[in-house]
Amino acid sequence: LEEQLRQSEKLEAIGTLAGGIAHDFNNLLMGIQGYTSILQHSLGTGHRDYEKLNSIQKLIQSGSDLTQQLLGFARGGKYEIKPTDLNDILIKSSNMFGRTRRDIVISCDLEEPLWLVEADRSQIEQVLLNLYVNAGQAMPGGGRLNLATKNVVPDDDPFLPASREPGNYVCVTVTDTGVGMDEKTRQRIFEPFFTTREMKRGTGLGLASAYGIIQGHGGSIEVDSEIGRGTTFRIYLPASDKEIPGTVRPVADVAKGHE
Ligand code: ADP
Repeated sequence: LEEQLRQSEKLEAIGTLAGGIAHDFNNLLMGIQGYTSILQHSLGTGHRDYEKLNSIQKLIQSGSDLTQQLLGFARGGKYEIKPTDLNDILIKSSNMFGRTRRDIVISCDLEEPLWLVEADRSQIEQVLLNLYVNAGQAMPGGGRLNLATKNVVPDDDPFLPASREPGNYVCVTVTDTGVGMDEKTRQRIFEPFFTTREMKRGTGLGLASAYGIIQGHGGSIEVDSEIGRGTTFRIYLPASDKEIPGTVRPVADVAKGHE
């Protein structure tokens, strides 16, 4: 699992790089295509070099198709936002992680029914796996990992960030009893390439990508930590607006309906 995770972190870094190059390269190709068209136009179809310029156009098109493929990879390919049950993701992903670390006791404190969130399931799984693996590394001799979820109505939660979109949220907390981190480290953990691990062990991209993914979902992620006691990550995601049979409608929405 750790290897799988490290691999996806690497791929993501390469993807970002490749995406940037592909984008610039495609712009360049579009410039060449533009000048080639102008030249074709001024030579006219009867000119003996007209067909050669057609061949150039075809090659430019193949080059452009290639960069589009690269851009697709950089975006991570499929990106599927659907009403999602975070409890289900937490249970399945933590079971998977638990099998790799028998020395860690995993406990869950999940609200039922939990409001759904609009999310890409595989991205949220990626975020959580990152948090578990980090927690595991903070507990080399074993420990406890607690996972909790909560429906959050605004004003109900002192931790809910002040700058946010209005509406209800779902909160996920991941708490470990590990080594914790000092304040200087805490302030930097979401920076790309920031790591306290020795070379080759850490890329410093896990939490940076987690941050990006959660921001991309309109949510927030933050951390509390104490040296020697452990660390808590808190993730807030906006509750889904869609009415899903069998789930409780967010309170703010019900109120809106009566206005
Ligand atoms: P990496 O794991 O490759 O170092 P991350 O972005 O996942 O990169 O984490 C950055 C740093 O944050 C880690 O090197 C570690 O110092 C710190 N960190 C992350 N999670 C925890 C945790 N649960 N307990 C203590 N420190 C942590």
